[in-house]
Amino acid sequence: MAKVLKALVAGAGFGGLTVATALAQRGWQVTVYERQAQLRASGSGIYIWENGLRILDALGARVVHDGAFHGRAMEQRDHLNQVIDAGDFPPGVRLVTVARRDLLEGLRDAALRAGVHIHTAAEVVGASADGELSFASGITEGADLVIGADGVWSPVRRSLGLELLHEHTREGALRAIIAGSQEELGVDGQGKYIECWSAERRLLITPLTQSQIYLAFTCQRSDRIGCAAPLDKAAWTASFPAWAHLIDRVDTLLPWSPYSIVKVKRWSAGRAAIIGDAAHAQPPNLGQGGGMAMQSGLALAVFMEGLEDPRDIPQRLHAWESSQRELAEHCQRWSCLYGEVSVLPDAVRAKVVHQGMNDPWLRGQFLRVAQSQPLGTVAP
Ligand SMILES: Cc1cc2nc3c(=O)[nH]c(=O)nc-3n(C[C@H](O)[C@H](O)[C@H](O)COP(=O)(O)OP(=O)(O)OC[C@H]3O[C@@H](n4cnc5c(N)ncnc54)[C@H](O)[C@@H]3O)c2cc1C
Repeated sequence: MAKVLKALVAGAGFGGLTVATALAQRGWQVTVYERQAQLRASGSGIYIWENGLRILDALGARVVHDGAFHGRAMEQRDHLNQVIDAGDFPPGVRLVTVARRDLLEGLRDAALRAGVHIHTAAEVVGASADGELSFASGITEGADLVIGADGVWSPVRRSLGLELLHEHTREGALRAIIAGSQEELGVDGQGKYIECWSAERRLLITPLTQSQIYLAFTCQRSDRIGCAAPLDKAAWTASFPAWAHLIDRVDTLLPWSPYSIVKVKRWSAGRAAIIGDAAHAQPPNLGQGGGMAMQSGLALAVFMEGLEDPRDIPQRLHAWESSQRELAEHCQRWSCLYGEVSVLPDAVRAKVVHQGMNDPWLRGQFLRVAQSQPLGTVAP
């Protein structure tokens, strides 16, 4: 009988739960170690594009419930609330928004169904290239494969010496979920996500269900008033008067925080790999950081298919990185580029967004990840 291969995963976020489930579904014995006392998704809502939806299908993760919002366009508006780009999605590209909790719970349930063991309150402090994880408790555990899915500060990445750069953007966001309905977005705003720009501030309006709207208030670190928590409703209403009725309803708020950009030398060292934000964290401008974490996680499991000799793991990991890294870095690059638009004067930005989004090549770059076919998935 073939030996059952064993994998240890640091981090039960979107990437960690995906790779764990996908390996377990391929016959691996998988244990996930999560630092938090309970599995908990930090943040509000999350966009899941076509590529992510296909991955959830492949994992059998039930995330998109009946009430989830399926938008048909990402509309861009200027400081006068005039449409500068209609942003209709091309055929075959779906986008769904759900609460982060729903995504995490759907992935957790899929992992448990696949037989993954999840240990909470287990802080990983490092990993070694010969397949060991070490814990804050002082113990060390070995396996055929170890995976760092431990987010932007990844101790696994750092202990393996893979980090090239971890920097913070000047831009960041405050986030809130409010009670609200589609009707409140006006007759022209229904069925859409709406991104509004005003000077160096942005307001992203994202319906989550029939009765909940996720708001992201984005501004530069230097904008002290914009960054303030609790939300300075008067200041944000002055920037986006058309949305005063939504801004006024903000109560509980996630405070302003910048975005991380992570670049690494390689995605693996020996029998240890890193995935998701640990390997390629990016600003959320394309709404694909979580999608990419799941995409590289599922692909890693596919690259392990048919493995008989654990000594082949380093070579399989190299092949996995060669097949996935270019797309992940494309996503990171274009997400960073998109953020640059926020510092342009209003009139210039309106032209740039309008012309850019109507240029088929540029639009294709922004949608490339959504239109990609993740390894391990089938077209619907
Ligand atoms: C404002 C904002 C909006 C975003 N919007 C979107 C969006 O709409 N769509 C999208 O796809 N992406 C979005 N993203 C990006 C997305 O959140 C991340 O890319 C995604 O969470 C990365 O998943 P991950 O599993 O790699 O890391 P994480 O989600 O960070 O998970 C890492 C896990 O590891 C655990 N951990 C950390 N350290 C340790 C340790 N030492 N030991 C054990 N466990 C540890 C953490 O507690 C956590 O559970 C957004 C990001 C931000 C900041």
